[in-house]
Amino acid sequence: MTATIIDGKAIAERIRAQIAEEVEARVEAGFPRPGLATVLVGDNPASQIYVRMKHKACEQVGIRSFGRVLPATASQEEVEAVVEELNADPAVHGILVQLPLPPGLDEERVLGRIRLEKDVDGFHPLNIGRLAQKGREPLFVPCTPAGIMVLLEEAGVALEGARAVVLGRSNIVGMPVALLLLRRNATVTVCHSRTRDLPAVVREADVLIAAVGRPEMVRGDWVKPGAVVIDVGVNRVEDPTAKKGYRLVGDVAFDEVKEVAGALTPVPGGVGPMTIAMLLKNTLRAAKLAD
Ligand code: NDP
Repeated sequence: MTATIIDGKAIAERIRAQIAEEVEARVEAGFPRPGLATVLVGDNPASQIYVRMKHKACEQVGIRSFGRVLPATASQEEVEAVVEELNADPAVHGILVQLPLPPGLDEERVLGRIRLEKDVDGFHPLNIGRLAQKGREPLFVPCTPAGIMVLLEEAGVALEGARAVVLGRSNIVGMPVALLLLRRNATVTVCHSRTRDLPAVVREADVLIAAVGRPEMVRGDWVKPGAVVIDVGVNRVEDPTAKKGYRLVGDVAFDEVKEVAGALTPVPGGVGPMTIAMLLKNTLRAAKLAD
């Protein structure tokens, strides 16, 4: 069996084109152009790349972007003051604080400062709390988990009653995606570094979400034949034949798993592009909330 490849890049492109169209229609109708502000603290090279990618993506769909950069030595008060300034700025509809923050800063306090209506990353403690409660609706859902749910929908995966296994329990991917799957009536198991006999647990999954950050950890014989596998991992592995000296692989051994799974996302070109598309979508929504 060879898995259907879920083309996140193509799906994300379609979503971005829809967003671009909607943004232009809004502006033509006299509404303000949506605006996203990023807050980058310190000089983590990966964070700098992510922030640059987000600004570029905004530009491509006609969303304004504002970048605030603070040194790694910035105090808690200074970071929170920048968030407050952006909260008060009517041209800024969405605020994204790039994580992780440098050591010594209280992430939860910073995220808690973002106005709920501008929390396009969905990490405000109240939004996460609502996600975890039955009958409550968060204003925004975190972008990577939201993107995963769109991929599952696009692939026509029936979640109700399905056995879903989430590998990883981080605040930004594993836990929120587990909550979203539960909301769609899947039966969810969340695995982590202390899970016993991981391959046996994973083998029960009709739907597997791998978000561990371990290159190609999920092997072909861990996967139930026909399962749907979403690979969130982005890992650099050395490759002397590659131009940059490395290549990107997921948390799933792609070549093995594609022979067993029913559907599978590639890395790159799976979850990654969806994360950015969801950020743009949330920013457009935040602009509409402000109308
Ligand atoms: P974290 O490091 O925050 O969390 C990793 C999780 O995996 C933890 O819950 C950890 O368990 C668990 N884990 C680690 N090692 C093992 C193991 N050997 N067996 C079982 N569980 C294990 O990572 P993130 O959630 O931030 O990211 C996960 C991956 O997704 C990374 O590769 C990251 O680059 C990628 N990512 C991709 C995005 C995208 O847009 N494509 C966005 C965000 C992340 P424990 O809790 O016990 O420590």
